[in-house]
Amino acid sequence: MADLETIRRQVRARLREQGTLVRLLLRQREQLQGSLFPRYGLCGKPTCGCRTGRRHGPYYVLSSRSAGRGAFAYLDAGEVTRARGLLSHHREFRRGLARLRKINAELVTLLRRYQQAVIRRGGERMGISSHA
Ligand SMILES: [Zn+2]
Repeated sequence: MADLETIRRQVRARLREQGTLVRLLLRQREQLQGSLFPRYGLCGKPTCGCRTGRRHGPYYVLSSRSAGRGAFAYLDAGEVTRARGLLSHHREFRRGLARLRKINAELVTLLRRYQQAVIRRGGERMGISSHA
């Protein structure tokens, strides 16, 4: 049932996907772990509309653990776009690692199946018949 060539073909397909995925991950040179929070604020003018409800903003606060301990930064509009990109890189990388773990597990399963088939072959070669 376990056709060796079929298993080999499946292993090669996983290896190709694994290689593509790893190269893709290594192409990423910058990413950011953290979250972006919109903030709305009041200004100093007592008659300003922000006092009656429409607050100023949004201003974005970047909360990040990239620098070790929790760190904050206030971002301007241009930086917000860049930060979103870097944060999404981080999510993509994490998804890539999850996929890689799955591929690796599939490879181990396939190779175990391959080994079983090869063991049977060795047994046959040595005149051992299986009584299943
Ligand atoms: Zn105001």
